[in-house]
Amino acid sequence: MSYQIDDKCINCGMCAGECPVTAIKGGAEKHEINPQICIDCGACAAICPANAISPAKAPAKPAAAPALVPAKAAPIAKPKK
Ligand code: SF4
Ligand code: SF4
Repeated sequence: MSYQIDDKCINCGMCAGECPVTAIKGGAEKHEINPQICIDCGACAAICPANAISPAKAPAKPAAAPALVPAKAAPIAKPKK
């Protein structure tokens, strides 16, 4: 997981100078974080004047598998006398 920049970005560039691993690059509309490089330090989010940086949401967890409930055993027929 990494941090991400949303549409509130005003392209000021402050975050790029703060990143210790140079994971942030400027784009046409807004800055972008390379998730392959980001080490989740949060430094960029702390200085962003537009509050546009936040931790990326974790992917949704797959639904839990249903619990296995043993099938009810059929009653054993009593032998006829
Ligand atoms: S500091 Fe915030 S507003 Fe400035 S470029 Fe980075 S994400 Fe955009
Ligand atoms: S969280 Fe840290 S490593 Fe990731 S982009 Fe922001 S400053 Fe760079």
